[in-house]
Amino acid sequence: MSSPHNRPRTMGQQFGRRSWAEPWKIKMVEPIRMISAEERQKALEEAGYNTFLLHSDDVYIDLLTDSGTSAMSDRQWAGMMLGDEAYAGSRNFYHLESVIREYYGYRHVVPTHQGRGAEHLISRALIRPGHYVPGNMYFTTTRLHQELAGGTFVDVIVDEAHDPANLHPFKGNVDLAKLEALVKRVGPEQIPYVSLAGTVNMAGGQPVSMANVRELRGLCDRYGIRLYLDATRMVENAFFIQEREEGYDTASIAAILKEFCSYTDGAWMSAKKDNLVNIGGWLAVNDEDVFEQARNMVVVYEGLHTYGGMAGRDMEAVAIGIVESVQDDHVRSRVGQVRYLGDLLSEWEIPIVAPVGGHAIFLDAKRFYADMPQDHFPAQTLAAELYLDSGVRSMERGIASAGRDPETGRNRYPALELTRLTIPRRVYTQAHMDVIAESVKAVYDKRGQTRGLEMVYEPEYLRFFQARFARL
Ligand SMILES: *Cc1c(COP(=O)(O)O)cnc(C)c1O
Repeated sequence: MSSPHNRPRTMGQQFGRRSWAEPWKIKMVEPIRMISAEERQKALEEAGYNTFLLHSDDVYIDLLTDSGTSAMSDRQWAGMMLGDEAYAGSRNFYHLESVIREYYGYRHVVPTHQGRGAEHLISRALIRPGHYVPGNMYFTTTRLHQELAGGTFVDVIVDEAHDPANLHPFKGNVDLAKLEALVKRVGPEQIPYVSLAGTVNMAGGQPVSMANVRELRGLCDRYGIRLYLDATRMVENAFFIQEREEGYDTASIAAILKEFCSYTDGAWMSAKKDNLVNIGGWLAVNDEDVFEQARNMVVVYEGLHTYGGMAGRDMEAVAIGIVESVQDDHVRSRVGQVRYLGDLLSEWEIPIVAPVGGHAIFLDAKRFYADMPQDHFPAQTLAAELYLDSGVRSMERGIASAGRDPETGRNRYPALELTRLTIPRRVYTQAHMDVIAESVKAVYDKRGQTRGLEMVYEPEYLRFFQARFARL
């Protein structure tokens, strides 16, 4: 087995290879430091073994999330100075609206403070008690808003998505047979829309193919069902289509994005991800009725329909971020960095979700701690161990995140028990990736001596954010 010091390299060092590099250089730096092992132990105990409850000052490399953690460009910062902070009709809103129309292709735009604000609006506008909302695997906030509006989420993702070792190139695809069976069972009038996500986060950042969304559109049309897209990471999805799907290797990311969106009736967006900003979101729809409702509700919950909870300067940063996000060299280096980390871990035979997705490496905690029962929170344990080893902060995506069934009140036992190493966009270097990989390896090497956790405090909603744990 190779040690961190003599391991083979997959990229850049073979004879004749040409490496790629990030399409930017660094103009400003933010110092980070690692605190001592004793301080890390103390900080983790105070945080109840929940990485969400750590102070970021106690974190060395922060891989908790790629949400709102991207580095903005000099253009975006310059755009912040052009904020038109008018209560109504800010010029930055009209700029944002025109950019969304150009790159995503939808007619009407409603700004929101972040993604869940848009999820709230679309769920309230379309879902009624007793409805069913099929989707390609759940996302935490998406499903909760669908449930709060009275809907029942139904997972219709392909079976391959639940198998972390399956190498299917489009594990985010909807299983059309599962969807059609649901439509026949409950009736199309009970399904307000299909909830489709680009690069499915909970499945490991797995993409949806163009062929799948095209067929899905056909099925929805046959039954008169709407199709809405969670576009949060749709740019990364476009990259996988360009790389893996026949007929798209010479199409630009921007063209692929626009074609994909054209099969859907609208989208909600957490601009904190793909759109390269620290805060922001939007809902964009083609349907006049849905637009009317959402535009009316946004004034109740978010702010006037030309700012929706964002400052003018924030909307300007989103508008510029969208244009930067669809540049081919940006997406290539973004996904390339994630893969670099994945390649190192795979070389050391550390179990990760394959194929590597667009925004994160997902450690497969079930295989990592093969003898630990799921009730002992293996993925939460792994996140805690990684922080103790090196101050690297990651996130649980397993039994704690899955929560309880709202009907039975019992724990859900998801097939996937994962610890997510999420890579912020344009923030860390290749050397940081090396340090992260070496720490995962150190935790893996002592996996036999690691004890699991028990949950000692459980909040009612989205428990993973604030739950507290203790060592068994
Ligand atoms: C982050 C995220 C959301 C919610 O967006 P927020 O900006 O965090 O409110 C919705 N869907 C997906 C896929 C996400 O990753």
